[in-house]
Amino acid sequence: MMIPAAVNLGIELRVLAENVGSSAELAAYAVGDYLDKDTVLEFAAGVDVVTFDHEHVPQSVLRALVEAGHAVNPSPDALRFAQDKIVMRQRLAELGVPIPEWAAVSSEAELDDFIAANGGSAVVKTPRGGYDGKGVRVVTAGAQAADWFRIMAEDGRGGALLAEEKVDFRRELAQLVARRPSGEIAYWPVVETVQLEGVCAEVIAPAPGSLGRVADVAADIATMIAEGVGVTGVLAVELFETTDQRLLVNELAMRPHNSGHWTIDGSTTSQFEQHLRAVLDLPLGATGSRDAFSVMVNILGGPSEGSLADRYPLAFAEAPMVKFHNYGKAPRLGRKVGHVTAGGDDLDDVAFMARAAAAFFTD
Ligand code: ADP
Repeated sequence: MMIPAAVNLGIELRVLAENVGSSAELAAYAVGDYLDKDTVLEFAAGVDVVTFDHEHVPQSVLRALVEAGHAVNPSPDALRFAQDKIVMRQRLAELGVPIPEWAAVSSEAELDDFIAANGGSAVVKTPRGGYDGKGVRVVTAGAQAADWFRIMAEDGRGGALLAEEKVDFRRELAQLVARRPSGEIAYWPVVETVQLEGVCAEVIAPAPGSLGRVADVAADIATMIAEGVGVTGVLAVELFETTDQRLLVNELAMRPHNSGHWTIDGSTTSQFEQHLRAVLDLPLGATGSRDAFSVMVNILGGPSEGSLADRYPLAFAEAPMVKFHNYGKAPRLGRKVGHVTAGGDDLDDVAFMARAAAAFFTD
């Protein structure tokens, strides 16, 4: 989704893709392993600035890029706070940002102690490599994470799991910001994200009823984090709005994020264009909304037979006001294969349009 934004600005984008046949083929691309230092160094030799659409490039590779003199945005020093959930919690605590109760636990006994101190349950997370709820588990006893402790013991590097209080939240929100190396910051309205089984299903922009204090607090928290971790590019701050009206930070993503896909059709500047501007240290674009409300619905899984495009004649005819995005990925249970966005003045109407349009692609 960064490719059209780059094409519009005449910015030449080169992608290091993991596989042949990925949607990266729409841009100039090289195929290679982002875990391999030499592959990444060779790729970087041909570009002005290196950026990412996920957080999994190892620190050793990132640092080798910086040592070789390449511009890397976000920098490895910033990115490490999005790579490891324990490192992230430590930094957010130092910054004084509101977060759930947490502890790094290295044994079942330590987890049992945390559970006892936090009302009889905890959310346990593997610090690295989790996404879409993988690596997140609600437990009521340390033994329920025995398999994760065993894997950590077997790999011999020590380490710990992240234990968090199980937050009693009303809803989940996300605050997206962009920051340039020179310090300029821009933020979009805070949005509500609706998750189904740990996967983001729907995003409502702005979050209903958020125009006053919620918007101000969310923007302040995200600005504090963006400056505190020195991010360059887009930063997504996932938040819980608790039943007692507090905002707590759940996690950080340092890249364009699912909670910002609505900006492609609903904002003056999309998160993808903004990310490019930010990593190139160019002035940021305006982040006002085109409509009173935008609703983005993910197409999860896709049709059981055929491709998304097979459904275009019907979907396009029935939903001419809706914008469709097809990632060109093979349909698979639970996989994000596309999304739709609708915009307008009446939230119920807009949400209905978007949900109905997405339903054409799943059966
Ligand atoms: P991932 O990295 O897989 O996205 P998250 O840390 O965002 O993992 O957790 C996935 C989902 O699990 C969250 O969106 C939220 O619904 C739930 N969750 C995570 N942490 C907590 C918590 N401390 N209390 C209650 N629910 C939580």
